[in-house]
Amino acid sequence: MTISEIITEPAINLDDYQIADIRFLGSIQAYGVLIILNQPDLTICQVSQNTQQWLGYQSEDLINQPLSLILPQEQIDIINDCLAGDFNHINPLNLTINNQFFNGIIHRSQNYTFLELEPLNNPSNTNFFQFYQITRTILKKIQKTSNLTELSNIIVQEIKQLTGFDRVMIYCFDEDGSGHVIAEEKREDLESFLDLHYPATDIDHISRHLYTLNYIRLIPDINYTPVVLPNHPETEEPFDLSLSILRGVYPCHLEYLNNMGVTASMSISLIHNNQAWGLVSCHHYSPKYVPYSIRTVCEFLGQVMSIELPSKQEHEYLTDKISLKNIQTNLINSLSQSDDLIESLVKHSDQLKNLVHADGLAICQDSQLFLSGKTPDEHDIYDLIDWLETKIEDDVFYTDRLPHIYSPAKQFKDAASGVLILALTRVSRYYILWFRTEVIQTVNWAGNPHEFVKVEEEDGSIKLSPRQSFKKWQETVQYQSLPWKKYEVQEAIELKNAAIGIVLKKADELAALNLELQRSNKELDAFTYIASHDLKEPLRGIHNYSSFLLEDYEELLDEDGKDKLQTLVRLTKRMEELIEGLLRYSRIGRTELEIQPLDLGILVTNIVSMLKVSVQDPSWEVQIPKTLPIINGDRILLEEILTNLIINGLKYNDKPHKTVEISYLDPETTPETPDSSYIFYVKDNGIGIREKHLDVIFRIFKRLHGQNQYGGGTGVGLTIVKRIIECHGGKIWVESTYQEGTTFYFTLG
Ligand code: ADP
Repeated sequence: MTISEIITEPAINLDDYQIADIRFLGSIQAYGVLIILNQPDLTICQVSQNTQQWLGYQSEDLINQPLSLILPQEQIDIINDCLAGDFNHINPLNLTINNQFFNGIIHRSQNYTFLELEPLNNPSNTNFFQFYQITRTILKKIQKTSNLTELSNIIVQEIKQLTGFDRVMIYCFDEDGSGHVIAEEKREDLESFLDLHYPATDIDHISRHLYTLNYIRLIPDINYTPVVLPNHPETEEPFDLSLSILRGVYPCHLEYLNNMGVTASMSISLIHNNQAWGLVSCHHYSPKYVPYSIRTVCEFLGQVMSIELPSKQEHEYLTDKISLKNIQTNLINSLSQSDDLIESLVKHSDQLKNLVHADGLAICQDSQLFLSGKTPDEHDIYDLIDWLETKIEDDVFYTDRLPHIYSPAKQFKDAASGVLILALTRVSRYYILWFRTEVIQTVNWAGNPHEFVKVEEEDGSIKLSPRQSFKKWQETVQYQSLPWKKYEVQEAIELKNAAIGIVLKKADELAALNLELQRSNKELDAFTYIASHDLKEPLRGIHNYSSFLLEDYEELLDEDGKDKLQTLVRLTKRMEELIEGLLRYSRIGRTELEIQPLDLGILVTNIVSMLKVSVQDPSWEVQIPKTLPIINGDRILLEEILTNLIINGLKYNDKPHKTVEISYLDPETTPETPDSSYIFYVKDNGIGIREKHLDVIFRIFKRLHGQNQYGGGTGVGLTIVKRIIECHGGKIWVESTYQEGTTFYFTLG
């Protein structure tokens, strides 16, 4: 026994080598005769070259002859009757040709009818009732089995009993194409193959495909002399023997059986979801023929097992499945009651880990990462996610041998030799990753799987030579975790569906709230507009009357009266300004934006020219250090934003030379922002704003200075600026150093 500390080499891919297609070997096994008939007249098209031995005719004498040369008319009539349908219910035909009993088995392929004759010592007398008797008892036993192991054991026992093979095994394909023996019934003196693994190279993809076409395959003697089946006499094309019972055996497979010491073999396909799930594999250590009738019973049992597979597999690990389902139900309950999915996932991280029997967990939402249990470190996880994103299909990807396919994982194999990733949404990086630690495993191979070698022949062709020894060969496998079972992965996928449901429900609620908010906002805007509009009228009246009073009755009033009246005029003026501000504010919410491409450079130049007329102070300057881009926006409203910000920069400024700079940040310098949105800024060298006031300046009517300072104002300008920017889908924020200057940044969506 060899114990080797190596990682499993990737299996030899037989598809890479030019191997003769085993369907077109041009020979059959020697235990029968193959006759290929033209359709529909059933004249003989081609025969295998052993007709002289079994039928008493030279093969060339049969070509183009009518079938009636060898079969009585009533048998030909039976075949004719079935030409349009299914031959299964007439197979096998009991024939006597040249005093020899045969089982005649018919199938159709490539527009030919194939008649295969298997010689019998006695006339076959099996009938439906015998078949029923045999299978009835076995079926009863099968019905009583409750899981896959029990079912497999019954099948191997019964098939051994029926056929008398020295060894009957159930061989199950693993996901990577390799397989292992899950049940075995054998002659007592033989060494057990139970639990042995066989590499994927043992059964290539063509053979695997053939198992789905031909449910049963018999090789009564590997030492047979192949019987030639010549090509089509006219077209020279080889015949496709995929469905043929007698089809010749690929020499490499014969060598393989020989190396194993096997002389006769039979395999019965086990099919699940139209794919080869496994095989019932029978071995005999001397030649062994199994009559067609017994093979039919075996084939039937294989089909019963195939049908039973899903329900029996369902019962495997039942207790574990139930416990995981419980965890899942509790988890979904808790999640659905929470407002914040991530927060809730984090809170229930232990349950989340248990859901798939993981050792570690990472919950990732964009730049936020939450870790629990045994995991790689943050930096490694982000790199891993980048790689996993290329692998995810249908929102999930898992592997139990991460370091084999992603070499950086060798560094953190202790934490993550296995990973299962679930994408909750892929628009934002919203992932759950489960990790499994490395579990050094010992795999028992039937012989050293790395020994399946390719040999280059003198003519340059490649010949595959199977390993010589099938003695148990142990391999220690590193960089591997326990495998993710299908039902565990299923639990994770179901959790995702529930989580998405919760997120969508919350999004619905939020959308409803938003709608309500929009409606209230509209109503509020309408109210503000109407109220301000209606207030303006009486206010103008008060203002006018106070002004008249002041003009017409000034001499009658003492100083105090005059003062009060002047205050009244000033206050009404101020109130009018405030109402005007309110009206402007509410108008923004009520009017549709007229979005159009605008050259920001031209816009700013126009504003500056206008200000040159209205602001007389010569000591100010607006600087535009680089060409401003063309952007999409509402011209009037954008003018309002820039005018407001520029005026503020000049107004709240006590420097002898006042400057306002208008520009934008280079997108490269702020990689976290979407490249479509520029970050503009308006920067002044003014009085600055104390940090504690930065938050409040955008509030309506909020001023940091008295009426008499810095030219007064209503405190509505920045509120309007913010609203316009938000209507464009953008954001505004401010940075300031007290007494040095302020910079307003904004985006436009
Ligand atoms: P107003 O329309 O009265 O100027 P704003 O809403 O535009 O009001 O500004 C609100 C307050 O924010 C102002 O009273 C001022 O104190 C402060 N502020 C605005 N812009 C600047 C600036 N560039 N520098 C310093 N303070 C400013």
